[in-house]
Amino acid sequence: MIARTKIILGGVAAVVFATVAVTAPTDAAAQQRRFIAIGTGGPTGVYFVVGNSICRMIHKEAAEGRREGRKHGIRCSAPSTGGSTYNIGQIAQGELDFGVAQSDWQYHAYNGSAPDRVTHVPELRAVFSVHPEPYQVIVAGDSDIQEFTDLVGKRFNIGNPGSGQRGTTEVMMAAHGLTTADFALATELTSTEQSKALCDGLIDGYGYTVGVPNAGVSVATEGCSARIINLNGAVEEGLVAERPYYGFASIPAGTYSTTVEDVTTFGVLATVVTNAAVDDDLVYEVVRAVFENIDDFRKLHPAFANLDPAQMISNGLSAPLHPGAVRYYQEKGWL
Ligand code: GLU
Repeated sequence: MIARTKIILGGVAAVVFATVAVTAPTDAAAQQRRFIAIGTGGPTGVYFVVGNSICRMIHKEAAEGRREGRKHGIRCSAPSTGGSTYNIGQIAQGELDFGVAQSDWQYHAYNGSAPDRVTHVPELRAVFSVHPEPYQVIVAGDSDIQEFTDLVGKRFNIGNPGSGQRGTTEVMMAAHGLTTADFALATELTSTEQSKALCDGLIDGYGYTVGVPNAGVSVATEGCSARIINLNGAVEEGLVAERPYYGFASIPAGTYSTTVEDVTTFGVLATVVTNAAVDDDLVYEVVRAVFENIDDFRKLHPAFANLDPAQMISNGLSAPLHPGAVRYYQEKGWL
C-alpha cells in the first residue's frame, strides 16, 4: 500500500510517495511501465511477424530480466495496419512508437522526395533493417501475363492506400508509362484480400512487396496455382540503376509450388523506424531485446533465417539511426 501526500514546493504542486509496505509493486516500477505500439502490415504478411517477434523478444527480456533484477518495464503490442506509408504517417504524429516500413519509403519520407506518396518526416529515425522484400507481381496461373505491360486491359490490384506495395506499384506503373486507366479494373484490396480475390477470379493479378516465403502469397500459389512473373527488363534495370534503395532479387525455384524456376525481380529491405522524439532508453531496450536474442528471432520466420546484425544496422537505412540504437550498437563495438 502506498500513502500519497501532496506538498507545495516553491509554489509548484508536487506529489511525494511514502512507502508504507513493500508487498505491492512500487509506484516507481508502475511509473516506469511503458506501453509501446509497433505498426506492421496485413495479418498474413511478414511485417506482422516482425512486429510481434520484436514484442516477443521484449517480453522475453522482461521475464528474464525480472529474475536477474533488471527491469525495463516495457509492454509491447504490434497491431495489423495498412503497411509502410501508413506506419510512417502514424509515427510522424506520435500515434505509433515504431513501425515497419520498406526502405524505399523510409528514404522518401526522410528526404521528402515523394510527397504525393509519403509524408515528409524529417524526424524519422532508423532502428535496423530486417528481411529482403522483392516486389512481386502474382498472376492467375492460367492467364497469359508474362511481363508487367501484359497487365494492360486486365484487372490488377494496386494495393490499399497506406501500403508500401501501393507506392511501389505506382512507381512501376509510372516507369512503364501506365496509369490506372490502362487496366480494366484497378482495385485497392488489402494484402490479405488480394490472394483470395485472385483465386476467386475477381482479379487477374496483384503487386506485392513482401518477404519470402509468406502465408499470403502461398494462399494464391498453393491455393489456385498463381505464379510470380519475372520483372527484369530494361525498365527494371533502369529503376535499379537510378535508385539507391532498389536492388535485384531472386525468388528461388521451389519457394512455392508454382515457382518451378528462379524468379528475378527487384526489391527493397524491410526496416524498423521510429521518431526522434521517442525516448533514447526505450529505443535502446527494444534494440537490445532483439539483438541479445537474435538467434531466437531468426527462428520466428523463414524470411529471418539469414539476418546478420552487421547488415541490419547499415543496409537499407537512409534516415539517421536513432541515438538509443546507436548507444547499443556502440556498446557492442558494431559502430
Ligand atoms: N511491404 C508491404 C507494405 O509496406 C508489407 C509487407 C508485409 O506485410 O510483410 O505494405
